Order: sequence, then C-alpha cells, then structure tokens
Amino acid sequence: MTKRIVILGGGTGGTLTANRLHRHFRHHGSQHQPVEITVVDQDDHHVYQPGLLFVPFGLANHSEIVRPRQAQLHRDIEFVQDLIDHVDIHADTVYLQGGRELPYDVLVVATGAILAFDETEGLTGPGWNEKVFTFYDVAGATGLAAALDNFEGGKLVVNVVDMPIKCPVAPLEFCFLADWYFTDRGMRDKVEITYATPLDGAFTKPVASAALASLLEEKGIHLVTEFNTGEVAMNDDGAGGKLIGYDGR
Ligand SMILES: Cc1cc2nc3c(=O)[nH]c(=O)nc-3n(C[C@H](O)[C@H](O)[C@H](O)COP(=O)(O)OP(=O)(O)OC[C@H]3O[C@@H](n4cnc5c(N)ncnc54)[C@H](O)[C@@H]3O)c2cc1C
Repeated sequence: MTKRIVILGGGTGGTLTANRLHRHFRHHGSQHQPVEITVVDQDDHHVYQPGLLFVPFGLANHSEIVRPRQAQLHRDIEFVQDLIDHVDIHADTVYLQGGRELPYDVLVVATGAILAFDETEGLTGPGWNEKVFTFYDVAGATGLAAALDNFEGGKLVVNVVDMPIKCPVAPLEFCFLADWYFTDRGMRDKVEITYATPLDGAFTKPVASAALASLLEEKGIHLVTEFNTGEVAMNDDGAGGKLIGYDGR
C-alpha cells in the first residue's frame, strides 16, 4: 500500500524536507511500498528569504528571489495550493479550506513563523511603508529599496523589536550594507546610522558580539543596547518619526 507523506508549508523547511525524503525513498525505498509526497502552501511564491537583505540596496530584485513553489520541488512531488484549515490527528487527515481532504501516514509541519507587526504600537500606523519598513518580506524590502533610492540624508534607525528573530545576524548585515551603500553613493557623511537592539551587546554570542561591536564603531554606526521598543511615533509634520523605548529613551 502507498505511504502518504503530507508536508504543511512549502518554504525552505518544507521544500527541503520534501526533496530529501523523495531522494531517500528513491534510493532506499521498496517497490512494494511506494511513497507519495504532497506539499501544501497557501500561495505559489517561494521566497528565498536571505536574498531579502540585498533588495533594499538594489543588489537583488523580486524576480531573482521569488519562484513558483513547484519549480523548487521534484516533479514527482505534488504541490497543492490552498489554505490549511485544520488537522484532525485522530483521523490522520489534513483539511484544506477549499474542501480537499488529505489523509496521511506521516505529517510534517513546516508552517514557519509569522511576522507580528501589530504587536508594536504605532508600527503599522502613519508612515508605514513610507518611512517605516521591514525588510523581512518582499513588499517591505521592495518599498525600502525605493525609499533608500530617494533618501537624501538623515537618520536611519535599524531596530530589532524583539527576540527571537529569523537570522539574528541579518539586521547587523543590513547596517553594514547600509554603510557600504551610502559610502558608494558618496553621501555617508549625510546619514547617521543607529542599530538598536534588545540584547545587551551587538550580538548573542560574547566573542562575536565584541567583534561586531568594534566593527560597528569602526564604521561609525551607533550601537544602542538593551533597547526594548515600546512604540513607533511619527512627527506631526510627517517628515520623520521616533522609536520610543519602554524606558523612555
Ligand atoms: C532577511 C533574512 C535573512 C536570512 N538569512 C539567513 C541566512 O543567511 N541563513 C539561514 O540559515 N537563514 C536565514 N534566514 C532565515 C531563513 O530564511 C528562514 O528561517 C527560513 O526561510 C524559514 O523557512 P520555513 O520553511 O521554516 O518557513 P517559511 O519559509 O516561512 O515557510 C512557511 C510556509 O508555510 C506556509 N503556511 C503557513 N501557514 C499556512 C496555512 N495555514 N496554510 C497554508 N500555508 C501556510 C506559508 O505560506 C509559508 O510559505 C533569513 C531570513 C530573513 C528574513
């Protein structure tokens, strides 16, 4: 009888698991027990997330980091585009919003993490995607590219709102890329870059933290530690805004 593996989520985790399981069963499986692999995702846009870091600086664009999900999967793996409604673990079945039911022998949950913008007061208020951006999704990274392109100088604050985050080094990489970007455009002296983090140092691990702190200093990037973001507020004139910490900083 065919064994059914259902993988929820077609991001890096789900895609990698599906392709590796497919390869494993092709080499080590038995003809008497074929395996069917199905991957479910709500959309058909596989984003290579590490590439998002380069989009704001014009070093990568949407078409280079986004692909159809089936193109990332072996052709023998079925891709189903639908929203997962719920899983009944007693009936070993996944229920999709479109009405399809997927019975499984093995279920892999790879539904990733959700960006929770609404949990920070004011973040998605006035100025969102105009002065305030995330580079952790395609829309934000693309909007930020346009904003940086038109930026003529001022204060650039890079803030990690809370931990844990995906790829804790990405915001630091962003700071160093910003330093390079403005230097390359001959306007580094017009931009004040600040890195505000809830950590007690530049990074989580002490040795890397010390090395990265001195690199930030060398590049003239201000490091603000133990900064717990309370609110994002736009100035009355709309020209800029403020990041306000719980301790009033
Ligand atoms: C800027 C940036 C730089 C990074 N750099 C690195 C790096 O250098 N090295 C590194 O190792 N990692 C890096 N990462 C982290 C890495 O990219 C992520 O950890 C990884 O992509 C997460 O993959 P995932 O499959 O767990 O989740 P995701 O890619 O988020 O996939 C989860 C999928 O589940 C789907 N889903 C969720 N709920 C449902 C539902 N109810 N119905 C249907 N579908 C659903 C979603 O649509 C999504 O496609 C970086 C991340 C970012 C943002």
